[in-house]
Amino acid sequence: MIWDVIIIGSGPAGLAAATVLRGLNVLLLEKENTVANKLRLSGAGQCNMTHSGQLEDFEDKYGDKWRFIRPSMKAYTNEDMIRYFKKQGCDVIVTDKGKVFPKSLKADDVIDVLIKDINSSIKINTSEPVIKLLYDDNYRIETTKSVYQSKCVIVATGGISYPKTGSTGDGLKFAKMLNVSVKPYGYALSPIYVKEHLFSELMGLSFENVSIDHFRGKKINTYVGDLLITHFGYSGPSIINASRWMEKSDRLYINFTSYKREELENDLLLQIKNSPKKTVRTLLTKYVQNRMVDKMLSSLSIDGQILASEFNKKNRKDIINMLTNYEVIIDQVGKSHIAMVSKGGISTTELSKKNFESKKYKGLYFVGECVDVDGDTGGYNIQFAFSSGIAAARHIKERFND
Ligand SMILES: Cc1cc2nc3c(=O)[nH]c(=O)nc-3n(C[C@H](O)[C@H](O)[C@H](O)COP(=O)(O)OP(=O)(O)OC[C@H]3O[C@@H](n4cnc5c(N)ncnc54)[C@H](O)[C@@H]3O)c2cc1C
Repeated sequence: MIWDVIIIGSGPAGLAAATVLRGLNVLLLEKENTVANKLRLSGAGQCNMTHSGQLEDFEDKYGDKWRFIRPSMKAYTNEDMIRYFKKQGCDVIVTDKGKVFPKSLKADDVIDVLIKDINSSIKINTSEPVIKLLYDDNYRIETTKSVYQSKCVIVATGGISYPKTGSTGDGLKFAKMLNVSVKPYGYALSPIYVKEHLFSELMGLSFENVSIDHFRGKKINTYVGDLLITHFGYSGPSIINASRWMEKSDRLYINFTSYKREELENDLLLQIKNSPKKTVRTLLTKYVQNRMVDKMLSSLSIDGQILASEFNKKNRKDIINMLTNYEVIIDQVGKSHIAMVSKGGISTTELSKKNFESKKYKGLYFVGECVDVDGDTGGYNIQFAFSSGIAAARHIKERFND
Protein backbone atom coordinates (compact mmCIF):
# COMPACT_ATOMS: atom_id res chain seq x y z
CA MET A 1 0.00 0.00 0.00
CA ILE A 2 1.16 3.53 -0.73
CA TRP A 3 -0.02 6.23 1.70
CA ASP A 4 -0.97 9.68 0.39
CA VAL A 5 0.77 11.37 3.31
CA ILE A 6 2.90 10.27 6.23
CA ILE A 7 3.38 12.77 9.02
CA ILE A 8 6.37 12.17 11.28
CA GLY A 9 5.78 13.64 14.75
CA SER A 10 2.65 14.48 16.70
CA GLY A 11 3.56 17.89 18.13
CA PRO A 12 1.46 20.95 17.32
CA ALA A 13 2.96 21.16 13.80
CA GLY A 14 2.15 17.55 12.91
CA LEU A 15 -1.28 17.59 14.52
CA ALA A 16 -2.23 20.94 12.94
CA ALA A 17 -1.25 19.53 9.54
CA ALA A 18 -3.35 16.45 10.19
CA THR A 19 -6.49 18.53 10.81
CA VAL A 20 -6.35 19.74 7.19
CA LEU A 21 -5.75 16.40 5.53
CA ARG A 22 -9.16 14.82 6.07
CA GLY A 23 -10.17 12.81 3.02
CA LEU A 24 -6.63 11.66 2.20
CA ASN A 25 -5.03 8.44 3.22
CA VAL A 26 -2.84 9.68 6.09
CA LEU A 27 -0.62 7.93 8.63
CA LEU A 28 0.86 9.81 11.58
CA LEU A 29 3.91 8.18 13.17
CA GLU A 30 4.92 9.18 16.69
CA LYS A 31 7.92 7.71 18.45
CA GLU A 32 6.62 8.15 22.01
CA ASN A 33 3.71 6.22 23.46
CA THR A 34 1.63 9.39 23.88
CA VAL A 35 1.10 12.24 21.43
CA ALA A 36 2.20 15.85 21.84
CA ASN A 37 4.30 15.47 24.98
CA LYS A 38 5.93 18.87 24.64
CA LEU A 39 2.65 20.63 23.93
CA ARG A 40 1.34 19.10 27.15
CA LEU A 41 4.20 20.76 29.09
CA SER A 42 3.90 24.08 27.30
CA GLY A 43 3.17 27.22 29.26
CA ALA A 44 3.75 25.27 32.49
CA GLY A 45 0.96 22.89 31.48
CA GLN A 46 -1.39 25.75 30.59
CA CYS A 47 -0.32 26.11 26.93
CA ASN A 48 0.31 29.65 25.80
CA MET A 49 -0.92 28.74 22.32
CA THR A 50 -0.49 32.06 20.55
CA HIS A 51 -0.35 35.81 21.07
CA SER A 52 -3.11 38.35 20.50
CA GLY A 53 -2.74 41.48 18.37
CA GLN A 54 -2.10 42.33 14.76
CA LEU A 55 0.10 40.24 12.51
CA GLU A 56 2.51 43.20 12.21
CA ASP A 57 3.17 42.86 15.95
CA PHE A 58 4.64 39.41 15.24
CA GLU A 59 7.26 40.83 12.89
CA ASP A 60 10.11 41.30 15.38
CA LYS A 61 9.45 38.11 17.34
CA TYR A 62 11.29 35.65 15.10
CA GLY A 63 14.76 37.16 14.86
CA ASP A 64 15.68 37.52 11.21
CA LYS A 65 13.20 34.89 9.95
CA TRP A 66 10.07 37.02 9.56
CA ARG A 67 10.37 37.44 5.81
CA PHE A 68 10.56 33.69 5.40
CA ILE A 69 7.58 32.85 7.61
CA ARG A 70 5.34 35.81 6.80
CA PRO A 71 3.34 34.13 3.97
CA SER A 72 2.40 31.14 6.13
CA MET A 73 1.69 33.30 9.17
CA LYS A 74 -0.54 35.51 7.03
CA ALA A 75 -2.35 32.52 5.56
CA TYR A 76 -3.06 31.09 9.04
CA THR A 77 -3.01 33.83 11.68
CA ASN A 78 -3.41 33.95 15.44
CA GLU A 79 -7.05 34.92 14.83
CA ASP A 80 -7.53 31.82 12.66
CA MET A 81 -6.12 29.64 15.42
CA ILE A 82 -8.30 31.22 18.10
CA ARG A 83 -11.38 30.86 15.84
CA TYR A 84 -10.54 27.19 15.24
CA PHE A 85 -10.30 26.33 18.94
CA LYS A 86 -13.44 28.27 19.82
CA LYS A 87 -15.34 26.46 17.07
CA GLN A 88 -14.19 23.15 18.53
CA GLY A 89 -15.58 24.18 21.93
CA CYS A 90 -12.28 25.29 23.51
CA ASP A 91 -12.67 28.93 24.53
CA VAL A 92 -9.57 31.04 25.16
CA ILE A 93 -8.44 33.76 27.52
CA VAL A 94 -5.98 36.57 26.83
CA THR A 95 -3.67 37.87 29.56
CA ASP A 96 -2.79 41.56 30.12
CA LYS A 97 0.38 40.94 28.14
CA GLY A 98 -1.55 39.45 25.20
CA LYS A 99 -0.73 35.78 25.79
CA VAL A 100 -3.52 33.46 24.65
CA PHE A 101 -4.35 30.33 26.68
CA PRO A 102 -7.22 27.85 26.64
CA LYS A 103 -9.84 29.13 29.11
CA SER A 104 -9.44 25.96 31.19
CA LEU A 105 -5.68 26.69 31.42
CA LYS A 106 -5.09 23.04 30.53
CA ALA A 107 -2.78 22.11 27.68
CA ASP A 108 -4.54 18.73 27.65
CA ASP A 109 -7.69 20.43 26.39
CA VAL A 110 -5.79 21.81 23.39
CA ILE A 111 -4.49 18.33 22.59
CA ASP A 112 -7.94 16.79 23.06
CA VAL A 113 -9.41 19.21 20.51
CA LEU A 114 -6.79 18.28 17.93
CA ILE A 115 -7.05 14.53 18.49
CA LYS A 116 -10.85 14.62 18.43
CA ASP A 117 -10.74 16.57 15.19
CA ILE A 118 -8.41 14.15 13.39
CA ASN A 119 -8.93 10.81 15.05
CA SER A 120 -11.54 9.30 12.79
CA SER A 121 -9.86 10.45 9.58
CA ILE A 122 -6.21 9.64 10.22
CA LYS A 123 -4.36 6.58 11.44
CA ILE A 124 -2.09 7.39 14.38
CA ASN A 125 0.66 4.93 15.34
CA THR A 126 2.36 5.81 18.61
CA SER A 127 5.50 4.07 19.94
CA GLU A 128 6.76 3.84 16.38
CA PRO A 129 9.94 5.88 15.83
CA VAL A 130 10.93 6.60 12.27
CA ILE A 131 14.57 5.68 11.75
CA LYS A 132 15.09 6.24 8.01
CA LEU A 133 13.61 8.47 5.34
CA LEU A 134 14.60 7.79 1.73
CA TYR A 135 13.30 8.74 -1.70
CA ASP A 136 12.86 6.42 -4.64
CA ASP A 137 9.84 7.35 -6.82
CA ASN A 138 7.85 7.47 -3.56
CA TYR A 139 9.11 8.14 -0.05
CA ARG A 140 10.27 5.12 1.90
CA ILE A 141 9.86 5.47 5.65
CA GLU A 142 11.46 2.88 7.87
CA THR A 143 10.39 2.62 11.49
CA THR A 144 11.49 0.27 14.24
CA LYS A 145 8.44 -1.86 13.37
CA SER A 146 7.77 -1.58 9.66
CA VAL A 147 8.53 0.00 6.29
CA TYR A 148 6.03 2.32 4.60
CA GLN A 149 5.72 4.00 1.22
CA SER A 150 4.14 7.41 0.81
CA LYS A 151 3.58 10.00 -1.92
CA CYS A 152 4.16 12.90 0.49
CA VAL A 153 5.93 13.25 3.83
CA ILE A 154 5.62 15.97 6.45
CA VAL A 155 8.57 15.97 8.84
CA ALA A 156 7.35 17.54 12.11
CA THR A 157 9.86 16.10 14.54
CA GLY A 158 10.56 19.27 16.58
CA GLY A 159 13.95 20.43 17.84
CA ILE A 160 16.29 19.16 20.56
CA SER A 161 15.14 20.78 23.77
CA TYR A 162 13.43 18.63 26.41
CA PRO A 163 14.48 15.41 24.63
CA LYS A 164 12.45 13.33 27.09
CA THR A 165 9.34 14.54 25.26
CA GLY A 166 10.56 12.77 22.12
CA SER A 167 12.11 15.78 20.36
CA THR A 168 15.66 14.60 19.78
CA GLY A 169 16.54 16.36 16.54
CA ASP A 170 15.67 13.46 14.20
CA GLY A 171 14.49 15.87 11.50
CA LEU A 172 18.09 16.86 10.95
CA LYS A 173 19.12 13.22 10.52
CA PHE A 174 16.40 12.72 7.89
CA ALA A 175 17.44 15.92 6.11
CA LYS A 176 21.03 14.71 6.01
CA MET A 177 19.93 11.34 4.59
CA LEU A 178 18.38 13.28 1.70
CA ASN A 179 21.19 15.80 1.36
CA VAL A 180 19.01 18.70 2.48
CA SER A 181 21.18 21.34 4.15
CA VAL A 182 20.78 22.15 7.83
CA LYS A 183 22.00 24.59 10.43
CA PRO A 184 23.30 22.74 13.53
CA TYR A 185 20.99 22.90 16.52
CA GLY A 186 21.67 25.04 19.56
CA TYR A 187 19.48 26.19 22.40
CA ALA A 188 17.32 29.30 22.46
CA LEU A 189 14.69 30.73 24.79
CA SER A 190 16.98 29.72 27.55
CA PRO A 191 18.71 30.92 30.68
CA ILE A 192 22.49 31.28 30.44
CA TYR A 193 25.26 29.74 32.51
CA VAL A 194 28.08 32.14 33.37
CA LYS A 195 31.69 31.89 34.43
CA GLU A 196 32.53 33.00 38.00
CA HIS A 197 28.98 33.67 39.12
CA LEU A 198 29.38 36.19 41.91
CA PHE A 199 25.67 36.42 42.69
CA SER A 200 24.71 32.72 42.83
CA GLU A 201 23.57 32.99 46.44
CA LEU A 202 21.11 35.72 45.34
CA MET A 203 19.19 33.32 43.11
CA GLY A 204 15.57 34.34 42.75
CA LEU A 205 16.35 38.06 42.90
CA SER A 206 14.77 39.88 39.96
CA PHE A 207 15.30 43.27 38.37
CA GLU A 208 12.87 45.24 36.22
CA ASN A 209 13.81 46.81 32.91
CA VAL A 210 17.54 46.30 33.11
CA SER A 211 19.63 46.97 30.03
CA ILE A 212 22.22 44.47 28.82
CA ASP A 213 24.94 45.24 26.29
CA HIS A 214 26.02 42.15 24.36
CA PHE A 215 29.57 41.93 22.97
CA ARG A 216 31.38 39.36 20.84
CA GLY A 217 34.57 41.29 20.11
CA LYS A 218 32.41 44.24 19.05
CA LYS A 219 29.02 45.22 20.37
CA ILE A 220 26.20 43.08 18.97
CA ASN A 221 23.11 44.55 20.58
CA THR A 222 21.46 46.01 23.68
CA TYR A 223 18.52 44.20 25.25
CA VAL A 224 16.09 45.76 27.70
CA GLY A 225 13.77 43.76 29.94
CA ASP A 226 13.36 41.98 33.24
CA LEU A 227 16.25 39.91 34.61
CA LEU A 228 16.36 37.05 37.10
CA ILE A 229 19.39 35.73 38.96
CA THR A 230 19.61 31.91 39.06
CA HIS A 231 22.06 29.72 40.94
CA PHE A 232 24.01 29.12 37.70
CA GLY A 233 23.63 32.45 35.90
CA TYR A 234 20.85 34.63 34.57
CA SER A 235 17.34 34.18 33.27
CA GLY A 236 14.19 36.29 32.89
CA PRO A 237 12.59 37.61 29.68
CA SER A 238 15.54 39.85 28.73
CA ILE A 239 17.96 36.90 28.67
CA ILE A 240 15.55 34.24 27.46
CA ASN A 241 14.41 36.13 24.38
CA ALA A 242 17.95 37.28 23.52
CA SER A 243 19.53 33.85 24.11
CA ARG A 244 19.10 32.95 20.42
CA TRP A 245 21.84 35.50 19.66
CA MET A 246 24.19 34.42 22.45
CA GLU A 247 27.16 32.06 22.38
CA LYS A 248 29.74 30.65 24.78
CA SER A 249 32.42 33.23 25.71
CA ASP A 250 30.27 36.24 24.70
CA ARG A 251 30.45 39.12 27.17
CA LEU A 252 27.42 40.86 28.64
CA TYR A 253 27.51 44.18 30.47
CA ILE A 254 24.52 44.45 32.77
CA ASN A 255 23.08 47.67 34.15
CA PHE A 256 21.09 46.44 37.16
CA THR A 257 19.57 49.89 37.80
CA SER A 258 17.10 52.05 35.96
CA TYR A 259 19.71 54.85 35.72
CA LYS A 260 22.26 55.46 33.00
CA ARG A 261 25.79 55.50 34.39
CA GLU A 262 26.21 59.31 34.37
CA GLU A 263 22.71 59.77 35.81
CA LEU A 264 23.51 57.40 38.64
CA GLU A 265 26.84 59.11 39.29
CA ASN A 266 25.13 62.51 39.53
CA ASP A 267 22.30 61.16 41.65
CA LEU A 268 24.70 59.51 44.08
CA LEU A 269 26.74 62.72 44.42
CA LEU A 270 23.53 64.62 45.12
CA GLN A 271 22.53 62.07 47.76
CA ILE A 272 25.99 62.38 49.37
CA LYS A 273 25.68 66.17 49.40
CA ASN A 274 22.13 66.17 50.83
CA SER A 275 22.54 63.31 53.28
CA PRO A 276 26.21 63.18 54.40
CA LYS A 277 25.26 61.36 57.62
CA LYS A 278 23.51 58.45 55.94
CA THR A 279 25.48 55.24 55.46
CA VAL A 280 26.77 54.27 52.05
CA ARG A 281 24.63 51.12 52.22
CA THR A 282 21.48 53.20 52.73
CA LEU A 283 22.30 55.43 49.78
CA LEU A 284 22.87 52.48 47.47
CA THR A 285 19.61 50.72 48.35
CA LYS A 286 17.91 53.44 46.31
CA TYR A 287 19.22 51.70 43.17
CA VAL A 288 19.04 47.94 43.83
CA GLN A 289 17.74 45.57 46.51
CA ASN A 290 19.46 45.41 49.93
CA ARG A 291 20.84 41.92 49.30
CA MET A 292 22.42 43.01 46.05
CA VAL A 293 23.96 46.09 47.70
CA ASP A 294 25.43 43.94 50.47
CA LYS A 295 26.89 41.44 48.00
CA MET A 296 28.41 44.16 45.82
CA LEU A 297 29.89 46.02 48.79
CA SER A 298 31.42 42.89 50.28
CA SER A 299 32.87 41.75 46.96
CA LEU A 300 34.53 45.16 46.58
CA SER A 301 35.61 45.12 50.26
CA ILE A 302 33.79 48.37 50.91
CA ASP A 303 32.38 48.93 54.39
CA GLY A 304 28.71 49.79 53.86
CA GLN A 305 28.46 51.37 57.31
CA ILE A 306 30.79 54.27 56.55
CA LEU A 307 29.11 57.64 56.21
CA ALA A 308 28.28 59.11 52.82
CA SER A 309 30.65 61.98 53.52
CA GLU A 310 33.52 59.47 53.83
CA PHE A 311 32.74 57.61 50.59
CA ASN A 312 35.94 58.04 48.57
CA LYS A 313 36.14 58.52 44.81
CA LYS A 314 37.71 55.14 43.97
CA ASN A 315 35.08 53.17 45.89
CA ARG A 316 32.34 55.30 44.37
CA LYS A 317 33.60 54.57 40.86
CA ASP A 318 33.92 50.84 41.57
CA ILE A 319 30.40 50.47 42.89
CA ILE A 320 28.91 52.59 40.10
CA ASN A 321 30.70 50.39 37.60
CA MET A 322 29.35 47.26 39.22
CA LEU A 323 25.82 48.61 39.37
CA THR A 324 25.67 49.87 35.80
CA ASN A 325 28.27 47.96 33.79
CA TYR A 326 28.73 44.55 35.39
CA GLU A 327 30.66 42.14 33.16
CA VAL A 328 29.45 38.60 32.70
CA ILE A 329 31.14 35.96 30.53
CA ILE A 330 28.83 33.31 29.12
CA ASP A 331 29.89 29.76 29.84
CA GLN A 332 26.97 28.04 28.13
CA VAL A 333 23.66 29.02 26.55
CA GLY A 334 21.03 26.65 27.84
CA LYS A 335 20.96 22.93 28.36
CA SER A 336 18.53 20.41 26.99
CA HIS A 337 16.32 20.38 30.08
CA ILE A 338 15.92 24.16 30.44
CA ALA A 339 15.89 25.60 26.91
CA MET A 340 12.35 26.00 25.66
CA VAL A 341 13.21 25.84 21.99
CA SER A 342 16.11 25.06 19.69
CA LYS A 343 17.74 27.39 17.26
CA GLY A 344 19.01 25.95 13.99
CA GLY A 345 17.34 23.21 12.01
CA ILE A 346 16.46 22.67 8.35
CA SER A 347 17.90 25.60 6.44
CA THR A 348 15.15 27.97 5.32
CA THR A 349 16.89 28.33 1.94
CA GLU A 350 15.92 24.69 1.26
CA LEU A 351 12.20 25.32 1.68
CA SER A 352 9.37 27.17 -0.05
CA LYS A 353 8.29 30.02 2.19
CA LYS A 354 4.70 29.55 1.05
CA ASN A 355 4.28 25.91 1.97
CA PHE A 356 7.56 24.54 3.44
CA GLU A 357 8.02 22.06 0.62
CA SER A 358 11.62 21.06 -0.03
CA LYS A 359 13.02 22.76 -3.12
CA LYS A 360 14.85 19.53 -3.95
CA TYR A 361 12.11 16.96 -3.30
CA LYS A 362 8.53 17.36 -4.44
CA GLY A 363 6.14 16.15 -1.76
CA LEU A 364 8.62 16.48 1.14
CA TYR A 365 7.82 19.11 3.78
CA PHE A 366 9.57 20.22 6.98
CA VAL A 367 7.44 22.15 9.49
CA GLY A 368 7.51 23.47 13.05
CA GLU A 369 10.55 23.58 15.24
CA CYS A 370 12.66 21.24 13.09
CA VAL A 371 12.98 24.24 10.72
CA ASP A 372 15.58 26.95 11.39
CA VAL A 373 12.98 29.31 12.90
CA ASP A 374 12.50 30.14 16.56
CA GLY A 375 10.24 32.71 18.17
CA ASP A 376 10.15 34.69 21.40
CA THR A 377 8.22 33.55 24.45
CA GLY A 378 4.55 34.47 24.42
CA GLY A 379 2.95 31.81 22.19
CA TYR A 380 4.98 32.56 19.07
CA ASN A 381 6.48 29.09 18.71
CA ILE A 382 3.22 27.18 18.87
CA GLN A 383 1.70 29.69 16.44
CA PHE A 384 4.56 29.04 14.01
CA ALA A 385 4.16 25.27 14.44
CA PHE A 386 0.47 25.61 13.51
CA SER A 387 0.95 28.06 10.63
CA SER A 388 3.75 26.03 9.03
CA GLY A 389 1.98 22.68 9.51
CA ILE A 390 -1.21 24.04 8.00
CA ALA A 391 0.63 25.67 5.07
CA ALA A 392 2.21 22.33 4.15
CA ALA A 393 -1.04 20.39 4.55
CA ARG A 394 -3.04 22.85 2.46
CA HIS A 395 -0.48 22.58 -0.31
CA ILE A 396 -0.72 18.78 -0.26
CA LYS A 397 -4.51 18.95 -0.25
CA GLU A 398 -4.49 21.25 -3.30
CA ARG A 399 -2.14 18.88 -5.10
CA PHE A 400 -4.43 15.91 -4.52
CA ASN A 401 -7.49 17.94 -5.52
CA ASP A 402 -5.96 19.00 -8.86
C1 LIG B 1 8.77 23.46 28.80
C2 LIG B 1 8.35 24.11 27.51
C3 LIG B 1 7.33 25.03 27.53
C4 LIG B 1 6.94 25.65 26.33
N1 LIG B 1 5.91 26.55 26.36
C5 LIG B 1 5.51 27.14 25.23
C6 LIG B 1 4.39 28.02 25.21
O1 LIG B 1 3.70 28.19 26.23
N2 LIG B 1 4.08 28.63 24.04
C7 LIG B 1 4.79 28.41 22.88
O2 LIG B 1 4.47 28.99 21.83
N3 LIG B 1 5.82 27.54 22.86
C8 LIG B 1 6.18 26.90 23.99
N4 LIG B 1 7.21 25.99 23.96
C9 LIG B 1 7.81 25.65 22.64
C10 LIG B 1 6.84 24.76 21.86
O3 LIG B 1 6.29 23.78 22.72
C11 LIG B 1 7.53 24.11 20.68
O4 LIG B 1 8.12 25.10 19.89
C12 LIG B 1 6.52 23.30 19.86
O5 LIG B 1 6.00 22.23 20.61
C13 LIG B 1 7.17 22.76 18.59
O6 LIG B 1 6.21 22.02 17.92
P1 LIG B 1 6.61 20.90 16.87
O7 LIG B 1 5.34 20.23 16.48
O8 LIG B 1 7.44 21.49 15.79
O9 LIG B 1 7.57 19.88 17.63
P2 LIG B 1 7.38 19.08 19.00
O10 LIG B 1 6.30 19.65 19.82
O11 LIG B 1 8.73 18.97 19.56
O12 LIG B 1 6.87 17.66 18.50
C14 LIG B 1 7.70 16.80 17.76
C15 LIG B 1 7.13 15.39 17.86
O13 LIG B 1 7.84 14.54 16.96
C16 LIG B 1 8.09 13.30 17.59
N5 LIG B 1 9.25 12.69 16.95
C17 LIG B 1 10.53 13.12 16.98
N6 LIG B 1 11.32 12.30 16.28
C18 LIG B 1 10.54 11.31 15.80
C19 LIG B 1 10.77 10.14 15.01
N7 LIG B 1 12.00 9.82 14.61
N8 LIG B 1 9.73 9.34 14.72
C20 LIG B 1 8.48 9.63 15.14
N9 LIG B 1 8.21 10.72 15.90
C21 LIG B 1 9.21 11.56 16.22
C22 LIG B 1 8.35 13.68 19.03
O14 LIG B 1 8.20 12.59 19.90
C23 LIG B 1 7.30 14.78 19.24
O15 LIG B 1 6.07 14.25 19.67
C24 LIG B 1 7.60 25.34 25.12
C25 LIG B 1 8.62 24.40 25.12
C26 LIG B 1 8.99 23.77 26.30
C27 LIG B 1 10.06 22.73 26.27
